[in-house]
Amino acid sequence: MSRIAFIGLGNMGGPMAANLVKAGHTLSVFDLVPAALDAAKAAGATAADSALETLEGAEVVISMLPASQHVEGLYLGQDGILEKIPAGALVIDCSTIAPATARKVAEAASARGLSMLDAPVSGGTAGAQAGTLTFIVGGEAATLEHAREVLQAMGKNIFHVGANGAGQVAKLCNNMALGVIMAVTGEAIALGVAHGLDPKVLSQMMAVSTGRSWATEVCNPWPGVLDNAPASRGYSGGFGNDLMLKDLGLAVEAAMRVGATIPLGELARNLYAMNKQAGRGGLDFSSVVQLMSDKAS
Ligand code: NAD
Repeated sequence: MSRIAFIGLGNMGGPMAANLVKAGHTLSVFDLVPAALDAAKAAGATAADSALETLEGAEVVISMLPASQHVEGLYLGQDGILEKIPAGALVIDCSTIAPATARKVAEAASARGLSMLDAPVSGGTAGAQAGTLTFIVGGEAATLEHAREVLQAMGKNIFHVGANGAGQVAKLCNNMALGVIMAVTGEAIALGVAHGLDPKVLSQMMAVSTGRSWATEVCNPWPGVLDNAPASRGYSGGFGNDLMLKDLGLAVEAAMRVGATIPLGELARNLYAMNKQAGRGGLDFSSVVQLMSDKAS
């Protein structure tokens, strides 16, 4: 069992930290939001007053922050913690960020003699709670072996996809597909509803037909179709529209770097930007369906 510093206890980090405690690890945690710290304390972690304070005796450091600038700030910023991480500790960033930022932080870690992985996740808040996340890992194979026991306490699938930064590239590919699929699923259900169909029956049919996906079966965008989906609780919790918008922006950047064509990814980025402009940036990304129908509320 390890002493783990865990920084970033939001929709994903909170339940991931709780699963590490359940697996018997000792956690020192930090978040800027006091309520997130209180929840982690209730789950059995020790709340620290700063990211720096979590590092005392840490054998593993895990971060789960919103975006590139937060990760770069945490490790390399003015009060960056990288310089203070104990020698020999393993560093794992689970946030979804730009591949170039992941490589930059990993290179700085390596210059200090620390091993680092980018290990973004898929599986949503339900996967984080159930401990069934998929980890998409970039970094050295030997470092992943060192991290495996810790990752297994939070997830059930681990994919090693290449060197540092590769985990982020693979994650962006997955989320670009997800962003497009969610938008078109909402569009399809809205079309059916406009023709008088019952959205639940339509979704049940699609979920066992060729239009099936995570968006029809797990996170259906239409309110009332699935009791546990964000759509059925006012689009709260889940995966924020602004986070999807960030990921699609990163996918566009990644495409430009290699001259790839991603027409649907670029269209989807604009849809989530429009959804943000309509005031739904903080809601679950499945609220994009409200661009197609005012009945989806
Ligand atoms: P979130 O906004 O719910 O949580 C982020 C947390 O980080 C917040 O509690 C915030 O207070 C904290 N934070 C920000 N800066 C900090 C700092 N400097 N020090 C300490 N804490 C800080 O986001 P989330 O939904 O948990 O997502 C986290 C990451 O995981 C994102 O990169 C996201 O793209 C990715 N992700 C999210 C989901 C999902 O379904 N929500 C799924 C897969 C991946």
